[in-house]
Amino acid sequence: MTAVPVALGLPVRRDAAPADGLVDTHGRVHRDLRISLTDRCSLRCTYCMPEQGNEWLARTSILTVDEIVDVALVAASLGVTTFRLTGGEPLLRPDLPEIVRRLSSIEGAEGRVQVALTTNGIRLPEMLPALVDAGLTRMNISIDTIRRDRFAALTRRDRLDDVLAGIAAAAASGLRPLKLNAVAMRGVNDDELVDLVDFAVGVGAQMRFIEQMPLDAGHTWDRATMVPREEILAALRTRWDLTPLPGRGGAPAETWLLDGGPARVGVIASVTAPFCGACDRLRLTADGQLRNCLFSIAEYDLVPTLRGASEEGRAEAIAAQLAACVRGKLPGHAIDDPGFLQPPRGMNAIGG
Ligand code: SAM
Ligand code: SF4
Repeated sequence: MTAVPVALGLPVRRDAAPADGLVDTHGRVHRDLRISLTDRCSLRCTYCMPEQGNEWLARTSILTVDEIVDVALVAASLGVTTFRLTGGEPLLRPDLPEIVRRLSSIEGAEGRVQVALTTNGIRLPEMLPALVDAGLTRMNISIDTIRRDRFAALTRRDRLDDVLAGIAAAAASGLRPLKLNAVAMRGVNDDELVDLVDFAVGVGAQMRFIEQMPLDAGHTWDRATMVPREEILAALRTRWDLTPLPGRGGAPAETWLLDGGPARVGVIASVTAPFCGACDRLRLTADGQLRNCLFSIAEYDLVPTLRGASEEGRAEAIAAQLAACVRGKLPGHAIDDPGFLQPPRGMNAIGG
C-alpha cells in the first residue's frame, strides 16, 4: 500500500482493487457499501429524528431484496468487500434474514463478502438466530446511556430493557467483534462515558463514542455544545491509561487499549478529527439513492435503472452510476466551511 498525503492530511489508500474498481479522483478505493433498509425506527433519538412530523419514504419506493442484491452484485464485482446494513432500524424489515442470506453468498474480490449490521438491538433476541444462520458477520449496537430515565428521554421511548436484552443476545451469539456505539452529548450522557465503557467490557464488547454530527432531522445541531474527541479522551483518562492502536486503515474509529488491553475503546471524531482522506465508504438509501458521503447534497438515483432498464443492460447501468457517484466525491465533508449545508435528509433516512 502506498500512502500519499491529500487535502485533509490523512493517508490515501491505494491498495489493490479490480482494474475498473471504485477509485475516486483523490485516489480513495471504495470497499464498503452501507445499505439503509428503511427510514423507520422503533426509537426517536433526539440527534437523529424528530419526535413527530417525519415524512416517511413511501413504501413503494423502498428497494426490494432483489433490487438490493442487483446493486450489491455489481458493487462486489467492482471491489466492494463489506456491506453494512443500517437504517432507520434494519430489524424492522421482516425480510432481513433473507437480505443477509442473499448478500452473504456474494463472492467479491477477496472471497465471500462480509455482511455487518448496525442496530438499536430491539427485537434482536428473536431475530438473531436467523441472522447468524443467514451468514451475518458482525454487529454494532447503539446504546447512549444505561440509565433508564435518560434512555427514555433521549430516545423518546421507554425501551432500555429491550436494548439490553438485544445486547445480551449479541454477546451470547459469539459474533465478534461486538461494538457498542454511543453519541456523546453534553448534559445528557457526558458524565456516563466511563460507566458505558465498563458496561461494554462486562459484556465482551468494545465501546465506541461518536461525536455528534449535524445530521438530525430537526437541524438543531450546535458545534458549541457537542462533546469533542479531546473531552471524551480526557474523561476516559481519569480511569484508564489509553494506548493508541495503529493500523486504522479506512475505519472511522480511532482505537485505544485500556490499561494495556486487551479491552479497547474507540472514538469516531467525524467533526473535530475528520477521516475523509481515508474514507472507503459509499451509501445506498432505502429508496435507491446512491450517496458518496453522509454529508453530500447530491444523490444518484438508481431507481430508473433498477425498475426501468432491461435486464441485459442493468448491471452495466448500475456500474456506470456507481462510478459516477465515486467520481463526484469531494475530498472532505467541509463541516467547518462557512458555506456548509446540512443534507436535507436526517440520519435515519441516509443510513448511519
Ligand atoms: N437504528 C440503528 C442504530 O441506531 O444503530 C441504525 C441506524 S443509526 C442512524 C446508525 C448510527 O448513527 C447510530 O450509532 C447512531 O447513534 C448514529 N447517529 C445517528 N444520528 C447521529 C448524529 N447526528 N451524529 C452522530 N451519530 C449519529
Ligand atoms: Fe432510530 Fe438509530 Fe436514529 Fe436512534 S439513531 S432514531 S435507533 S435510526
